[in-house]
Amino acid sequence: MAKFFCNKLFRYLSIICFLNSTILPVKSQSALAAWEINTNGVLELRTKSNTKLKAYFKKANKNHGDRFWVDFPGELKNPRKIKGNGSIKEIRLGKPYKGKTRLVIEFKEEVYLTPLKWQMIGLDQNRWRINLFKPKYSFKKIGEGFIGKRIKNIKSNQNSSYVKKREYDSSQLPNVKQNKFLVVIDPGHGGLDPGAIGISGIRETDVVLEVSKIVKKLLSEKGVKAILTRKNEVDLDLPPRVYLANKTDADIFVSIHANASRGKRRDINGLETFYYRGWRGRLLAKRIQKQILRVSPGSPDRGVKQGRFYVIKNTKMPAVLVEIGFLTGRLDARRLEKAPHRKRLAYAIAQGILEYLSKVG
Ligand SMILES: [Zn+2]
Repeated sequence: MAKFFCNKLFRYLSIICFLNSTILPVKSQSALAAWEINTNGVLELRTKSNTKLKAYFKKANKNHGDRFWVDFPGELKNPRKIKGNGSIKEIRLGKPYKGKTRLVIEFKEEVYLTPLKWQMIGLDQNRWRINLFKPKYSFKKIGEGFIGKRIKNIKSNQNSSYVKKREYDSSQLPNVKQNKFLVVIDPGHGGLDPGAIGISGIRETDVVLEVSKIVKKLLSEKGVKAILTRKNEVDLDLPPRVYLANKTDADIFVSIHANASRGKRRDINGLETFYYRGWRGRLLAKRIQKQILRVSPGSPDRGVKQGRFYVIKNTKMPAVLVEIGFLTGRLDARRLEKAPHRKRLAYAIAQGILEYLSKVG
C-alpha cells in the first residue's frame, strides 16, 4: 500500500544575495552544483547561493523502495541514473518539470529510515547537509561535482620556489591599445560537469577555471577588458557562453579546456588549438598554440586545427578552443597538477592573445 507522507523537511537560512555575473541568461541553469552521499550516510549538497530547495520523502510501494528527493530551481542538462551500493539502490537526476532539477535517492528495502527526524541543515549560503541513514555495512561514497569550498583536487603550491616572479609579470607581455579590446574567456565545463578526469582525480573544470582567471587578470593589467563565461563551479550550458560573447560584441573568444584520451592512455600527451573559420581565428590559434608549447617542453605539438565545436562555431568573432594538455597523459597530468605550470600556461595564453590583438587590432 502506498502510504506516504510528504513532509517538507527543509529549513533554509536567511540568505544574502551576492550579485555575481549579471549578463548571462542564467534562468535555465540547474542550481545544483554538486552532491555527495558520504560513507556515514550523510547527503551533502552544494547549490548556487540563494537557492530555495524542497525536500520530500515517500514510503516504498510496489515499484520502488523508500525514496527521498530534493527539488532545485533550474533545469538539469542531462538526466541520468547512478547505481547505488550498500543501503542505496539508485540515484536519479532528472527534470520532473520544465525548468526544474530533481535529485532522487532510492533506498533498498531492508534499510531502516527515520524521515520524521530528518533535517536538512544549511551550512552556509550554498551548502546543505542531511543525515539520511546509518550504514549497517560499509557504504562507498557516491557523488558528482565538488562539494567543498576550496579546490582540493589540484595542489595549490603557489609559493613554490621555482616560480620566478618576473616570469609572470604582465609588464613583460606585449602592449596593446588600452581600453580598446574586449575578450571573452570561457573556462570549459563546470559544476556537475567536471569535464575530463585525469590521473589522481584531477578535474578539467578546476584546472581550466584557474587558468582562465589568471588569463583574465593578466589581460586586465594590460588594459584589455576580459569577461569570464563562468566564475565558479556552475554547470553552464554552451548556448549562454556563445550568447555572452555575441551580445557583448567581444573582439575575440577563447575557450580553455584540457584533454582526456580514450581509454585514459598515459602515453598520449600534447597540446592543440582549434578554430572554426577565418584567417583571424587561425592566426589567434597559431599565436596561442606557439606560446603554450613553449611552456610545455616535451609535450607533443598536436597542431592548430579546424574544429566544429559549438562554442567556436556559433560565436561571431574570431574564436578558438585551446586544449592545454592531457589530464590522462603521464607527462601533461603531472604538470597540470602544479600551480606554477597552470600559471605559465595562463601567461602563455595571455601572450598569444595580446600578440594577436597588437597585430590585428
Ligand atoms: Zn573540455
